[in-house]
Amino acid sequence: MLVSNLDEILSFNEEFVSSQSYEPYRTDKFPSKKMVIVTCMDTRLTELLPRAMNFKNGDAKVIKTAGALICEPYGSVMRSLLVAVTLLKAEEVFVVGHLDCGMIGLQAAPVLAELEKKGISKERMENLRHSGVDIENWLHGCQDVESGVMESVNLIRNHPLFPSHLMVHGLTINPVTGKLHLVFDGREAKNL
Ligand SMILES: [Zn+2]
Repeated sequence: MLVSNLDEILSFNEEFVSSQSYEPYRTDKFPSKKMVIVTCMDTRLTELLPRAMNFKNGDAKVIKTAGALICEPYGSVMRSLLVAVTLLKAEEVFVVGHLDCGMIGLQAAPVLAELEKKGISKERMENLRHSGVDIENWLHGCQDVESGVMESVNLIRNHPLFPSHLMVHGLTINPVTGKLHLVFDGREAKNL
């Protein structure tokens, strides 16, 4: 039997709302620090990253994707970024990868093996390949954290729809200590 968090979440939520616990978090939809962060979904970063980068509710847009890797120039991550820097008035992008990320060196094979154990047949995977889905490429991670960060930074910087004044920085974070390491300073690239 699968254990679900749903009941606990719903009962907690009733109390949260009725006690007006939301009050300290009230803000508007515009990022007051005019920044958007692209980072990994890693659980160690949920609270650590905002604390280590000194932003709170209302300060920044945060887009999470495995490895902070942007796979497609016209996918949903890039669309989110584009909305953030246009309608939501962000002026600075921080791509923040992290050490010990599961996407470093990720290959399709172990993911596909897990899927098979969960009942996804090889035949179904073959059908996908035949219909043109490049599963191996899609499930491919980055070589190392810095090159992954730079792939995302360059994809944004070279994107034809992003304004040229946009600053795009690349950083890594230590998921234990929160220590940031600057990989790419977007100000230098713009000669500011
Ligand atoms: Zn990660």
